Amino acid sequence: MQCIYCKKGKGKKEFDREHVLPELLGKFKNNFVLHNKVCKECNSYFGNNLEVIVGRESFESYLRYSYGIKKFNKHPTNRIIIKCRIDGDFKGALMEIILFDKEKDTWHGDLLPQVAFIDAAGEKHHFVKGNIPKIQDLKDKGIEIKGIHLIGKEEFIDDLIGELGNNGIDFQKKGSQSFPQNYDNPTTVLVKIRAQIDDINLRFMAKIAFNYLAFSQPANFVLNDSFDLIRNYIRHGSDIPDRLITIDRNPLLQGESSNHSFTNGHLLTIEWRGGPIIAKVRPFNHVTYRIILCNSFGGIYRSIKIGHHFDIKSKTISKLQGIRHIVLPH
Ligand SMILES: [Zn+2]
Repeated sequence: MQCIYCKKGKGKKEFDREHVLPELLGKFKNNFVLHNKVCKECNSYFGNNLEVIVGRESFESYLRYSYGIKKFNKHPTNRIIIKCRIDGDFKGALMEIILFDKEKDTWHGDLLPQVAFIDAAGEKHHFVKGNIPKIQDLKDKGIEIKGIHLIGKEEFIDDLIGELGNNGIDFQKKGSQSFPQNYDNPTTVLVKIRAQIDDINLRFMAKIAFNYLAFSQPANFVLNDSFDLIRNYIRHGSDIPDRLITIDRNPLLQGESSNHSFTNGHLLTIEWRGGPIIAKVRPFNHVTYRIILCNSFGGIYRSIKIGHHFDIKSKTISKLQGIRHIVLPH
């Protein structure tokens, strides 16, 4: 038995069940599972290094709350930037999401303790407590400080002043403002969520695509050397050429537009018409990760046209009809 990721030959006991679509994206009836294809070592590597991070700190992790896949938990925010969109002094201030109201589909945000440096052009540069740059770093970045705005609850202000002092930034207090809404309670504010998309996200999506290929094709197909590039990228994060994975927001289903979609479920497709084998992974029908699984296959050609819809409401999986013009089954 050979693992499709590390390609090591191992005994049956060293293999694990592997969900084609990780359960963090939902649980489905008759879920697609790979048996004896992914070894325990690779399986736990993915769990600890890809799934944990995507589950907590990706845009998809926020979509899970919106669509009721998971109850909201407060997040670490290292990889996600959330900015206040209320016009005025607090616009652009860094926030964290502290609550999600499923009924109203609204996020409740809270300001992080931070400073905003206002430069000569009136532009603001926000830095959270503990991450305030030294005066020299600001100069190196070409930021000339004309004003400083300290933002945060009263109890953090002294910390901010201390940190500024340690970093060689002196200032005189001129006044104070309060947050335009009832800041002591979780309030509903317009926020802009910007999540970092990096190799962790892309490898996670590529793994879904590769699992799906392994699930739908005969056992030896995915072990072909033609897939080593994508395999090693998923398993080890090794380099891949640019453009092997691209992201776009264009609708995948026929008849959908940017403001009208038929589902919030996940869509998966793979197509091979000679040339590259191309997978599309579209979590929550939100953005498409287009993944070239291999550019040219070094074996016998067969036509592949498969697609599935993972319905997050009914928890069912159904086959998509058509690949070029995809429609949901009735
Ligand atoms: Zn393995």
